[in-house]
Amino acid sequence: MLNDRRSHGLWERTAPPAPATERLTGDLVADVAIVGAGYTGLCTALYLAERGLGAVVIEAAEIGFGAAGRSTGLVNAGLWVMPSALKETLGPLYGDRWLNLLRDSPRTVFEIIDKHNLPCELKRAGTIHCGADKKGVAEIAERARQWQALDAPVQILDANETRAKTGSSAFPAGLLDLRAGTIQPLAYVRGLAGAAIAAGATVFTASPVEHIAREGRLWRLGTQGGTVRAKWAVLSTDTYTSRIFPDLRGEQVVLPVFHVGTVPLSHSIRATILPEGHGAWDTRTVPTAFRTDDAGRLIVGSVGALRGAGTVIHRNWGRRRIRALFPQVGEVELEHEWYGRIGMTNDHLPRLHVPAENMIALTRFNGRGIAPGTVFGRELARHISGELRLDGMFLPVSPAQSAPFRAIREGYYELGAQIAHLPPVR
Ligand SMILES: Cc1cc2nc3c(=O)[nH]c(=O)nc-3n(C[C@H](O)[C@H](O)[C@H](O)COP(=O)(O)OP(=O)(O)OC[C@H]3O[C@@H](n4cnc5c(N)ncnc54)[C@H](O)[C@@H]3O)c2cc1C
Repeated sequence: MLNDRRSHGLWERTAPPAPATERLTGDLVADVAIVGAGYTGLCTALYLAERGLGAVVIEAAEIGFGAAGRSTGLVNAGLWVMPSALKETLGPLYGDRWLNLLRDSPRTVFEIIDKHNLPCELKRAGTIHCGADKKGVAEIAERARQWQALDAPVQILDANETRAKTGSSAFPAGLLDLRAGTIQPLAYVRGLAGAAIAAGATVFTASPVEHIAREGRLWRLGTQGGTVRAKWAVLSTDTYTSRIFPDLRGEQVVLPVFHVGTVPLSHSIRATILPEGHGAWDTRTVPTAFRTDDAGRLIVGSVGALRGAGTVIHRNWGRRRIRALFPQVGEVELEHEWYGRIGMTNDHLPRLHVPAENMIALTRFNGRGIAPGTVFGRELARHISGELRLDGMFLPVSPAQSAPFRAIREGYYELGAQIAHLPPVR
């Protein structure tokens, strides 16, 4: 996208085209103006349109330009944190609401895909969180115990079962979550846009919102080409928040994440790697995620930015990591590489802000935005349409707070990933 082959890589090559959209011109009036065409903004628009409300999405670049079009495509039910940590951090009321909302969130994604017939390489096989070492095995065992206590269909796989399902002998155990699945993420977000438009929403692209101001009882959102005036303004710009929302950018600590993708593997080799279509990632401190696509490419990802020295370091790490996890692949050409950014918080939980009356922002998904962004979009639409009070939402409203030492921490993550991915010294 935007002539950058490292922005969306493989996903841009294989996603169906986005629905036709235009730049915002002239002056429009709508019920709700939504900034950002990722999972959150487009799901909010879809559910609003289904409720008969006029929703206008304004996107700075293209549909799925932000993290949505770059992600690994693992549709997970949980967050990075343990279920118990949700209650510890949010208290029993919001902790329970979160768990209830998230536990079935992949099903909501699958229902949207089925209902609107979205071609996005959906696999409902589940995901596998691979224990990388003794500590990782203990971590997934505790995770499984907590989810099983909540009646979630998760199970621990032993080394043989993990090898059979992943095709790798590197892991002594795995946590199989049958609620989860995988998608082609750019195809999904483009499909969401098509579904929202078909339901009556309007989506403008190449239209960065440059100012937002109150005008009487309405919000006025201005771009270079035009304006939208609306009773409600939704800011769903997450980690790709531009400078016009300095508070939202200031609270984000950005972690870069990249992928490499091989050429399509031979039928005999691809039959040995994630043969049932699971997506997977491991418990290492700098984790590895891996999955395949419909054409049989192997995709491997981790923390790191593909720029400067990082490009070669992470690409070479990708080659070594593929050899270490899947020696059966042998030497293989890497056909694609791309990267994006995720926004982290200390407690690994998103934030819900209400900066002013009838303005709402949902941000900082901590690398888990597909299923959460989808169900949170629905909940925002329910709130705006009057079905759900603000104090009945899944998160308490909080003020935007600057992340301490943000720039230093961001530099540390980018450099630290390069150091972690350097070849081992012999
Ligand atoms: C490499 C990578 C891998 C990931 N893997 C996974 C995964 O496997 N599973 C998972 O659940 N999550 C994953 N994530 C996280 C997930 O992609 C995000 O949490 C999710 O995309 C957030 O969705 P969103 O709609 O809130 O924001 P985004 O998708 O980031 O969309 C925000 C949009 O706002 C637009 N915008 C910003 N400022 C303006 C403005 N001023 N005017 C107009 N538009 C504006 C941006 O251009 C952007 O398109 C991954 C993320 C990355 C980067």
